[in-house]
Amino acid sequence: MNTHKLLMIPGPTPVVRSIQDQMGRETVAFGDPDFVKDFKELVEDLKVLFKCSGEVFVVAGTGTMGMEMAIVNTLKKGDNLLIVSHGFFGDRFIELCKRKGLNADILSSEWGDIVPVEKIAEKLKEKKYAAITVTHVDTSTGVSAPVAEIGELMKKHPETLYIVDGVCSTAGEPEYVDDMGIDVLLTGTLKAFGVAPGLTMIWASKKAMEKRRTLGDISEYYIDFDKWLPIMKDPSKYYATPAVNMVWALKESVRMIKEEGIENRYARHKKTGRAMQKAIEGLGFKILAKPENRAVTLSDVIYPEGIDDAKFRGLLAEEVIIVAGGLGPWAGKMFRLGHMGNIDKHDMISVIATIERALYKAGAPVELGKGVGILQKALME
Ligand SMILES: *Cc1c(COP(=O)(O)O)cnc(C)c1O
Repeated sequence: MNTHKLLMIPGPTPVVRSIQDQMGRETVAFGDPDFVKDFKELVEDLKVLFKCSGEVFVVAGTGTMGMEMAIVNTLKKGDNLLIVSHGFFGDRFIELCKRKGLNADILSSEWGDIVPVEKIAEKLKEKKYAAITVTHVDTSTGVSAPVAEIGELMKKHPETLYIVDGVCSTAGEPEYVDDMGIDVLLTGTLKAFGVAPGLTMIWASKKAMEKRRTLGDISEYYIDFDKWLPIMKDPSKYYATPAVNMVWALKESVRMIKEEGIENRYARHKKTGRAMQKAIEGLGFKILAKPENRAVTLSDVIYPEGIDDAKFRGLLAEEVIIVAGGLGPWAGKMFRLGHMGNIDKHDMISVIATIERALYKAGAPVELGKGVGILQKALME
């Protein structure tokens, strides 16, 4: 019998009881004084945790909406933009920016690799860009971009805004808006925050807010920074109804992050991510991302010869472990395993043990307990 479904996809991630309880609370008016106080505290906490002296926006929507919100509030038709892409989600900026009439140049890497920072530096020397987009962790490749290093480079290009997609990294891999020179950081609730899908969070530097002011009225209405700014400063005001229960759920996630300590949380993600990767490799799988640019929030795992993707994921699903399939050129050849947010040791041990059983059932040469042994040792180090 299996009673506990483990959602090990790269988002949504498992939602712990205390966060679910917030979603199950009796909904109140957006102007309810207790809710207004909670929302205000949440906005402040998000600024402090991610070291942002600018503004933060918390708006109902998904990660993709965050990408659009970042673009439309900082760029106008005809602006030059540099897109640094390490896979499917990096590429998502291409279509989005084309539709907005931006002149996008694209730097992309082979899947599993990164665009070297020197290449970005060269491009920035060649041409004036209004902004650059970098996807911190691209879930399609499991690659983590060197956002701090790129941030250092961007400090030499103050005329160019630095936009970071943190949907699969924020609260799992270090991101400091001011220190890293980030102008817009966007993320969602569904990945390393361990909350259900439903909210977008965007941090905007003072420089980004200044750029917004120069744009005047933009054609987007719901996702306009100008419309939401008064609400973020005083949530008792109305623009469009906030997702009351989701705000509470995010607040509980943030409370847990504060309790754990954000630095400890980053260290935990690193330790558990690397331990999971070691165990997986020990079982004969390969990981798509090169070791030097491997994310800690998820792993994109390539099957050994002879393992059928649908069958293998089906075997895991029979034991209620849910993993995601590969994207783009890697569909059918790999699976994507999330290990971020509020998963614990029990979850990880179960997942590796279940992967061993699935390999065994699929007829692969596997020594039961080997992956679990590697994981245990790595966790005890
Ligand atoms: C998941 C993801 C998105 C899309 O988020 P949605 O909530 O599905 O819209 C965007 N960027 C990255 C890096 C992601 O991992």
